[in-house]
Amino acid sequence: MIKRPCSAPGCSGAAPGRFNDFCPDHFFAIPKAYTSMLMSYRIMTANAADDEARSHLGEQAECFLRLAISKLSAAPTSSPAPAASAGRPSSSRTAGAPDQSERRA
Ligand SMILES: [Zn+2]
Repeated sequence: MIKRPCSAPGCSGAAPGRFNDFCPDHFFAIPKAYTSMLMSYRIMTANAADDEARSHLGEQAECFLRLAISKLSAAPTSSPAPAASAGRPSSSRTAGAPDQSERRA
């Protein structure tokens, strides 16, 4: 039986299951959309038809892994949200100066 370590930074837990990258604690700390996408790509990678597809799907899986880990660090379990960005009053925005740089198609 293969015991893989949890992919969360600093976690020494084991990730049960062939297509799972996280220990149960971290698995449920990450939004399900990310863990299910990651697991889907892990399964697709394992079932890839050839090496090219396998490496491509493996890269996709790594992207979802990094994304899932980033969601983990943003989770409110470790530390409260920084107050600096949360309580910014809307009056501090410059009125009458629409941001046109974002409208470029
Ligand atoms: Zn973990």
